[in-house]
Amino acid sequence: MQFNEVIGQQSVSQKLRESVSNQRIAHAQFFAGSNGSGNLPLAFSYAQFVLCPNRTEEACGACRSCKMMNQLSHPDVHFAFPVANTGTGRSKALSKDFLIEWREMMLENPYSELEDWINHLDIQNKQLNIAVNESEAIVRQLSLKSYEGGHKVLILWHPEKLNIQAANKLLKLIEEPVGETLILFVGPRVEDVLPTIISRTQIIRLNPIEEQSIAQYLMDKLNSSQEEATNISHLTEGNLSKAIRWHLHQGGENIFSELFIEWMRLCFKALKVKDLDQLSTWNQEMSGLGRERLKSFFTFCTQVIRKALLNNYGSGELSTLELKAPGFDMAKFSPYIHADNCITIIQELTLAARHIERNANAKIVMMDTSFKIARQLHHKLNVDSYYGV
Ligand SMILES: [Zn+2]
Repeated sequence: MQFNEVIGQQSVSQKLRESVSNQRIAHAQFFAGSNGSGNLPLAFSYAQFVLCPNRTEEACGACRSCKMMNQLSHPDVHFAFPVANTGTGRSKALSKDFLIEWREMMLENPYSELEDWINHLDIQNKQLNIAVNESEAIVRQLSLKSYEGGHKVLILWHPEKLNIQAANKLLKLIEEPVGETLILFVGPRVEDVLPTIISRTQIIRLNPIEEQSIAQYLMDKLNSSQEEATNISHLTEGNLSKAIRWHLHQGGENIFSELFIEWMRLCFKALKVKDLDQLSTWNQEMSGLGRERLKSFFTFCTQVIRKALLNNYGSGELSTLELKAPGFDMAKFSPYIHADNCITIIQELTLAARHIERNANAKIVMMDTSFKIARQLHHKLNVDSYYGV
């Protein structure tokens, strides 16, 4: 991958290029940002750039080293990432046991996130981590001579999944690297990684991708219309993985979870503090997302309301729906859905979906439904403590 294939992030790319030209390559670096910001694609590009013997402003893209890197199969680039024991009798799983699957996923979409990885392996119930035997394997690999005579690179994805022993095993390698070694940690948050590692590492912080770059990507690569691209880029706040999922309508439930929570929050707030601006802007953005997606969203909301009601009456297990959005607590939300309002809310959501299907103006439908739901949610007045408005 070359720097110009990374979406946005021009200024960080430029700094990385300069550090190589000035021969100031820190041997341990942390690319901190969500996967949706492009931390991993940036690490791939940087490694390719460092290893390419013909680099100018970019890696050449054509030499032996670049070709191997484009397949993520350069013998001097090692990958480590969280894995789980998958019950096939192996007690100590290593990244190399899953390298084919990981490479396949990353070649398909280098913006893949940890959750995509869990789904790719189909191991939703397993705990993923990077264990001490992985660190031992890394130390062994990096102590060998490089095949091509240049740098040896380790790209370690999600270092927050290193357990303490595993992290400690890596310390010596970071403190006293053997030969030309480049260790790239790639993860969301510096704060989640052991301070002993961080203190010896140069931090490269990535901002969310500019909305304009995301919109452009959606239009150029995924044939989004301008309106859709603008709306998606705005709602997904600089996270390209999320924007792609939205566009492809895959993994929709996670995004729906986040949107549902945001919608309920704005509905509560709009009536409580009599401020309609935010709700109105949000409705406008939602209405640009297309009829099919809106219909699916309303159906999803209906399921959440049902689940909340069942929960409230102690039968939550009858619904298998999971809300995965951070910060949402079904147990706290459920009390606001009760026998007095649940039927009306579900009727409103069903009606909204029907209106959308019949080509009604989406913004008016969103606004209308928002008010009706807000009123229903305020049916019981102790809502304040939960949403803090
Ligand atoms: Zn090259």
